[in-house]
Parts: sequence; structure tokens; C-alpha cells
Amino acid sequence: MKKLPLIIAAILVLVLAFIPLFRQQNSVRQQEEYPGRDKIIIVYDNKALSGFKSAWGFAALVKFKNYTILFDTGGDGRILLNNMKKLGIDPKSIQYIFLSHIHGDHTGGLWAILRENPNVTVFLPSIFPDSFKEKVRSFGAKVVEINDPKEILKDVYTTGVMFPVGEQALILKTSKGLIVVTGCSHPGIVKIVERAENITGENVYLVVGGFHLFGASEREIRAIATSLKKLGVQKVMPCHCTGSRAERIFAEEFGEDYVECGVGKVISW
Ligand SMILES: [Zn+2]
Ligand SMILES: [Zn+2]
Repeated sequence: MKKLPLIIAAILVLVLAFIPLFRQQNSVRQQEEYPGRDKIIIVYDNKALSGFKSAWGFAALVKFKNYTILFDTGGDGRILLNNMKKLGIDPKSIQYIFLSHIHGDHTGGLWAILRENPNVTVFLPSIFPDSFKEKVRSFGAKVVEINDPKEILKDVYTTGVMFPVGEQALILKTSKGLIVVTGCSHPGIVKIVERAENITGENVYLVVGGFHLFGASEREIRAIATSLKKLGVQKVMPCHCTGSRAERIFAEEFGEDYVECGVGKVISW
């Protein structure tokens, strides 16, 4: 009977000793999947890996060369910050914020980020209301208004503002080819890819983001996949507003070069 407390104490010591080990392994797996390499980390999406929160909207952290760019901000700042925290991303590490378009599921989380880190430059379509731009500036952040396609940082381009909604996509010039990050693709994913290739004269290697194909028929979706392949697109990572039917078809069409999206997913090249 006297041994019982000793056994319990021994078990407790063992359990306590292993807890930090498990924690460390988890965080290492999430943060250093591709240590030191250029990568895109999905931080806000309609889908999420277990442990993260999903919600309607999109945001991705782009680590490219020496830049840390937050592409869009999702719809809810608390969800965004919470997912980032779990991924070991410090909001203060963000240098640039690239807003694709005005819709709330892409801009709603901005203010929570600016409260944590106002020391950023925000690239946004010039058609955003003045009140929005003023609010960004009121935090102390810098606003850069975008109209036309251009190189905004070395090897980083914007497609320029495309209509109907007034949306820009982000283009990275990598050694594998172009990487295009899209918000909702309201102008059409094929048009965005064509524009990216026209601006830079290079082929698109990977497209990541919302493809906006919820209402599209199977025939339309297959035609889009074929057009993307003809344009030289090698890999696709459809997120957010792509729709489950389009995701299934893209998975069939691209096979191993289809990458599933969701909060916590990391893609490197
Ligand atoms: Zn939208
Ligand atoms: Zn959207």
C-alpha cells in the first residue's frame, strides 16, 4: 500500500516530462516543414487542417526572398490572428500586405493585423473608397494604390486592377516559373494567368487561391483546366471560393500536381 503514492508520483513525473516534448514536436512540424525556403502558408480559408479554424474567406502568408507579404486578410481578425499564432507567425514579421479586392472576406481581418503591426505597406486597388485608405493610414501604415500591372518589389508583380470587381493578383517570379496568388478570381482565373504571362513574358508554374467556380458546370470547369494547362500552368492549389465540384475536377485533371488547400497547408518550390 505504501508503494502506491510512489508509483503515482513516478507516473506524474513521466507525463510532465513528456508534455513539452510533444509540444515541441508539433510546433517544429508546423513551422519548419520547409525551413529557410520560400513558401506560401495558408492562414485563412474555407477549409482547415485539424487544430486550425476555417471560415469563409482567404489569406496566405508569402515568404519570398527577403519579403514577408500577407496576401489578403480573411474576414475575421480574431480567426486570422489565432491561426497565425498556431503556425508560429508573428504579425510583427509582416512587411507588406497585398489586398486583392474590397470584399469583406478578404479585407475584414486587416484592422486586427494593423493593430498588432502598423509598420507595413499596404498595396490596394486605387478604386478602394477614400475612407478605407484613410483608415489604413490612421494606423500609421503606408498605402500604395495600384491601377496598372507593375513590379512592386524586385521579382514581385501585381496584375494591376482587373474588372468587374476591381481585383489584383500577386505574381512571384521564381526559378521554377511564375507563382500567381489570387483572391477570388472575379475576373476569371484564365484571364488572370494570361495577364501574368503577358506582363512578365514567362509561364505560370503554380496558381494558388480562390478560383470562384461555385456555379460553373463540369464542362466549363474542364475547359478552364485545359486552358490553364495550355498556358503552361503546372500546379494548382485551388482554395476558398473554388467550390468542391471544381476542386474534384482539378484534382482529376492535374493528378499529382493538384495541391489541396486549407489553413495550415504549406507549399514550397
Ligand atoms: Zn470577392
Ligand atoms: Zn472571396
